[in-house]
Amino acid sequence: MNSKEQTLSIIKPDAVERNLAEKIKEKFLERKLTIKNQKKIQISKEEAAEFYKVHQTKPFYDRLCNYLSSGPIVVMILEGENAISINRKIMGATDPQKADKGTIRKEFGISIDKNSVHGSDSQDNAKKEIDFFFN
Ligand code: ATP
Ligand code: MG
Repeated sequence: MNSKEQTLSIIKPDAVERNLAEKIKEKFLERKLTIKNQKKIQISKEEAAEFYKVHQTKPFYDRLCNYLSSGPIVVMILEGENAISINRKIMGATDPQKADKGTIRKEFGISIDKNSVHGSDSQDNAKKEIDFFFN
């Protein structure tokens, strides 16, 4: 199947703080994803709340928004064949303890909160999330 896609990736505060951004980018490049655009920013709690709005009813929502706005992040547009699902594979399971060997979250994640990366989970959300940060 031949389908070039774009997805949004975020290197979260725990990983930026530990200077892991370049190592994490390597993982994407190794798997033939290219970085089309990237910037290092810090967002407000209000922006984090907007970004993670799909989770607003979850018990961990407030903590999640505090966390994503707690320090600098690197946001990237990744592009490649099946970029959305490939990126999710490279990231590994949400909980680093459950993530497969070789994934970013297994290697670098600290906890289910500080799990080092975000990746869009569908074409719809990829579009929305890319617009959110790059338009
Ligand atoms: P992300 O959206 O960050 O890429 P994900 O798609 O693997 O992660 P989601 O279900 O979308 O997981 O959850 C968003 C974020 O909320 C997770 O990255 C994690 O930090 C946090 N989270 C998810 N489930 C839990 C939970 N049960 N307890 C605490 N935090 C959670
Ligand atoms: Mg998600």
